[in-house]
Amino acid sequence: MLINSKRRLVAVIAVLSTLSLLAGTATFLHSLNMLRQEVENTFHSRAALIGTFVTLHRDQVAVMRNLLVDNYRAPAVRADLPQRLRERPEYRVWELEDTQGQLAGRLSGNAALPLSEAQLLEVQAALTLDAQMRPALEFHEAVVWLYYLSASGFIYMAPDSPLGNFHFTPELYRRDYWRESAPALNPQRRMILDGPYQDAAGQGWIFTFAQPVYAGERFLGVVALDLRLDTLQQLVVLGEAAGETMLVSENAHLVARPGGFEPGTHLRPPLGDRPVDWHADEQGNHWLSAPVVADELWAVHRLEPHTLLWAAVRESAPTWLLILMLGLLCLFAWRLMGALAQMTRMTHVDPLTQTLNRRGFYEKAGVALALAARKRLVPAVLLMDIDHFKTINDSYGHAVGDSVLKQLGGHLCKACRPFDLVCRWGGEEFVIVLLLDAPAQARQSAERMREAAQRTRIQPGDRPVTLSGGLVLLGEGESLDQAIKRADQWLYSAKANGRNHIEHDPGL
Ligand code: GH3
Ligand code: MG
Ligand code: MG
Repeated sequence: MLINSKRRLVAVIAVLSTLSLLAGTATFLHSLNMLRQEVENTFHSRAALIGTFVTLHRDQVAVMRNLLVDNYRAPAVRADLPQRLRERPEYRVWELEDTQGQLAGRLSGNAALPLSEAQLLEVQAALTLDAQMRPALEFHEAVVWLYYLSASGFIYMAPDSPLGNFHFTPELYRRDYWRESAPALNPQRRMILDGPYQDAAGQGWIFTFAQPVYAGERFLGVVALDLRLDTLQQLVVLGEAAGETMLVSENAHLVARPGGFEPGTHLRPPLGDRPVDWHADEQGNHWLSAPVVADELWAVHRLEPHTLLWAAVRESAPTWLLILMLGLLCLFAWRLMGALAQMTRMTHVDPLTQTLNRRGFYEKAGVALALAARKRLVPAVLLMDIDHFKTINDSYGHAVGDSVLKQLGGHLCKACRPFDLVCRWGGEEFVIVLLLDAPAQARQSAERMREAAQRTRIQPGDRPVTLSGGLVLLGEGESLDQAIKRADQWLYSAKANGRNHIEHDPGL
């Protein structure tokens, strides 16, 4: 029964371990997949948001350009405009005077005064930007400067700053955004994204959108918007995802990253005109990338090696913990079963001879007799007793007597068949239940058992032992005890008739 329970426990443990491992692995893979999806979703949301934000400001620049071009085509220059231009020799520029808060920015230049009609028309067109610049500066905190740098030697800039702080200088034409937007490097007349660089007026790291302005085929200048980088930095950390989202401009310039900006950093993520998913580089980093502005600005996401694996391990940790606890529980159950089996064996088996004791004998006999009835086997009961055992004890000592009993138990267990029972009935007396195919086999089988028992040797001296026995067949409706009692009578008779033989029911 215990062996069956142990087998069942082994089967249960095997099934549980397999299921646990499957569950653990499935949880881990599920977590990995979820995390990967979470990173993808967060990254694409960030990229979309940054895209919207950037588009808003690009549109603003495009509107400035359109407004300027439209107004450049105005039929005439306002009458007061030429008079408002003032020479400022201390700065080697001229400036346009404000008229009661109507000017959002300051206009300064070094073209020779008086300006030509075309130059005045351009100045007037630049002044119309005021209507658009004012709300742009007011509502978008991220916008630092809006300006128009004319190829004709002047700049119009918002917000207004005194000439002492900023005024036109030819140096302005050496700025990257100008060179990259001007016709020589930009025949396609596209909008240029330039930066990041430190603002000359101390506004921190900024990023410029510059759009060349053409009146027909004539290049007038560049309208531009400077955007504060920290806003972009806030957008790259929106939401939750392992790894870091960054912005990279053309030439692989790092523009924004969560931990703050490091100038001059170059990255080598995959940059294309379509989103790229999970590109692995040589260092083992995994990259996601999506264009924000075609060919100019990309949102990229970097996962350092094994980041996702570790995150998935952390996510599936409760399951693994549960599995570990289940494992410990199984181990505990296994050890308990082992201890129980050992204990049961100890209560059913005689420790000296390793044959059954009476309790074990009665328990097994029930099963054995039921099996015999079902298989139509004939149970025979053999009671055997060592001859003159007391003399052995007396001559060689108790320890030698014990050794004789131990050997004898071993020989009997070896000689019998798996469903036969061998029991130390008491002292040097053994009951053996043999399940036979026919009554005719009884004597022969009993004799075989006696011969096996008599292989026992007394040490020292290598002397043989003899046994006497009583043999009966279990009668119809007879109890085992009754049969043993009858066998005992035949044993008694065998002892009386010279020992060293078996006596039995007549007819056997
Ligand atoms: P007989 O041939 O008539 O059976 O004589 P016997 O000496 O074998 O029978 P008896 O009943 O007089 O003696 C049995 C002895 O077995 C007495 C007892 O001390 C000894 N004995 C019983 N159990 C053990 C045991 O566990 N170890 C040892 N060494 N001796 C035992
Ligand atoms: Mg005896
Ligand atoms: Mg005896």
